[in-house]
Amino acid sequence: MSTSTVRFQTGLRPTRIEVDLDAVRANVHHLGALADAEVCAVVKADGYEHGAAPVARAALDGGATWLAVALVEEGIELRDAGLDAPILVLSEPPIAAVPELLEAKLTPTAYREPFLAVLDAAGRQRAAPIPVHVKVDTGMGRVGIPSGELTERLRQVAAADGLDVQGIFTHLARADEPDVDTTDRQLAAFEAALDEAAKLGVRPRLRHAANTAGTLLHPSARYDLVRPGIGIYGLSPAAEVDAAEHGLTPALHLLSEVSYAKRVDAGTPVSYGHRWRAPDDGWIATVPIGYADGVPRALTNRAQVLLGGRRRPMVGSVTMDQLMVWCGDDEPIVGDEVVLLGSQGEETIRAEEWAAAADTITYEIVTQLSVRLPRHHLG
Ligand SMILES: *Cc1c(COP(=O)(O)O)cnc(C)c1O
Repeated sequence: MSTSTVRFQTGLRPTRIEVDLDAVRANVHHLGALADAEVCAVVKADGYEHGAAPVARAALDGGATWLAVALVEEGIELRDAGLDAPILVLSEPPIAAVPELLEAKLTPTAYREPFLAVLDAAGRQRAAPIPVHVKVDTGMGRVGIPSGELTERLRQVAAADGLDVQGIFTHLARADEPDVDTTDRQLAAFEAALDEAAKLGVRPRLRHAANTAGTLLHPSARYDLVRPGIGIYGLSPAAEVDAAEHGLTPALHLLSEVSYAKRVDAGTPVSYGHRWRAPDDGWIATVPIGYADGVPRALTNRAQVLLGGRRRPMVGSVTMDQLMVWCGDDEPIVGDEVVLLGSQGEETIRAEEWAAAADTITYEIVTQLSVRLPRHHLG
């Protein structure tokens, strides 16, 4: 848990996140068994806002052999939390960050000539080669060695005595779309890059390409190691790829309590802009969570919560700190549990439902959950 989140761990606020670490363990185990490969658990963005260190520990318990982050800072945070597993930084940081990266024994991804040269020089100086994973762009169009530069860059890597090339990898742009041929074309380009590397004497132990969708849908992308992120949290990588159907369980539950209850007359307007009016006489509950906590304002009049064991509509504009719920004839009581994401009674609300209603993806739903929400890790 980063220090900035600690000040909200007071227990004063009923609104909170619960993270089921048993679910993370089971999801990692499931993905590793499915892929028959090593698992690199992706815990960037504070573990997709689930809490990087506890999730990382659960992932390692579930059989992961690697962790991955986006930033050097995120890797240092895991080291400070006592994690000593290999940690891959998924893209090159600025060259100025290399001393900190090496100090924390993080494994860099590399693809640019100057970055490789700096690492090589550092490795020669220490007389202990620096572990590195080389990233090839086979069609993602973001970072990685582009095809036109491949031969030259692989020659540089092959000649770099200061580097210990442990891995070579690529990233798939459309693995969540089962029927497109982009993935096949990317994997063919990756195979060609592996062949070329081998001819130059670069034969890393770990070849990898698959994110969650690649792991689930594209067996030929699994290679020696898979890099699932969203799947270890039990969430779907896309609307067409249902995590539950693939045997994954959501780990995150978002909970609160009724903070205020009132009876209103039919026609009473509610919240900013009066974008909703009571259809009948009935009860309104106020819940102390809003868009500053990460509930998308786009869910205004488009989502439900669980209260009293039933689905009930969120009504009126979602505000910064609070939202309202229509309870009809059922009187809510201050202190009643409200489930925003998760289960109550027989009902379940999933992040996939919010993603569809807010016209986004599960990734954005969970990574928008803010530091204002205390995290409780269970299991
Ligand atoms: C974020 C990321 C992943 C994980 O992707 P998911 O879709 O969350 O499984 C894997 N590899 C790279 C390079 C990434 O940036």
